Amino acid sequence: GVQLSNIHKSYEPGGAEVIRDVSLDIADGEFCVFVGPSGCGKSTLLRMVAGLEDITRGEMRIGGNRVNELAPSERNVAMVFQNYALYPHLDVAANMAFGLRLAGMKKDEIGTRVGRIAKLLEIEHLLERKPKALSGGQRQRVAIGRALVRDPGVFLFDEPLSNLDAALRTQMRVEIARLHREYGRASTIYVTHDQVEAMTLADKIVLLHTGADVARHGSVAQVGAPMDLYANPRNLFVAGFIGSPR
Ligand code: ATP
Ligand code: MG
Repeated sequence: GVQLSNIHKSYEPGGAEVIRDVSLDIADGEFCVFVGPSGCGKSTLLRMVAGLEDITRGEMRIGGNRVNELAPSERNVAMVFQNYALYPHLDVAANMAFGLRLAGMKKDEIGTRVGRIAKLLEIEHLLERKPKALSGGQRQRVAIGRALVRDPGVFLFDEPLSNLDAALRTQMRVEIARLHREYGRASTIYVTHDQVEAMTLADKIVLLHTGADVARHGSVAQVGAPMDLYANPRNLFVAGFIGSPR
């Protein structure tokens, strides 16, 4: 699991806080979705969990250990980015194997793992292709595959489907839900602007504040199960955000 305790973030020393006093507990196996208006700090929070941004103040634990005491590789997190970030000069198999090679895994074990995940994602026939010869949806599968082969304790997704057309987005959403069921022991944090994704994928939704209300910017507006936020919004901001189609 992932625990955040009173986390704050300013990008510049003494500068405005973009994350303010966020405390969250994401259990093993839980699918947690971050939502909120553009600029509210969703990506910042995710990147802090990934270890790509410093934490200005507060404490974070992953798998029960304080992150300050973990080397980056010991965080055991895998992130899927919006733009997929595949290596253009490597074929699909090498893209999926990249992190495992770095970690020093044996070649035949890498082959077994990549083969198993490629089968799961139905991209076995693409293993020798370069990313530029793939469709958007296929690239997306490879990016997810690259995260899955690492068998992480925490999955991080930052708007992974936003570049896809509506039909493919629906298909991939169903697939991600299925993968989560099959890999149910990992904690997942998933950032999206899409209400349907949030409502259908989440065990728990975290809505962050933003904007005009400077005192609350980057703080948690409400946390709860999707129907809980929908039926019992704590205030007008939550009601407006969850209730209105966007
Ligand atoms: P979006 O939905 O548009 O992706 P977001 O919720 O992911 O937005 P963040 O990218 O986390 O928002 O940004 C939160 C705030 O931090 C914004 O005000 C943004 O301008 C600021 N910010 C983000 N990255 C940096 C950076 N590297 N340096 C300074 N400020 C940053
Ligand atoms: Mg973002």
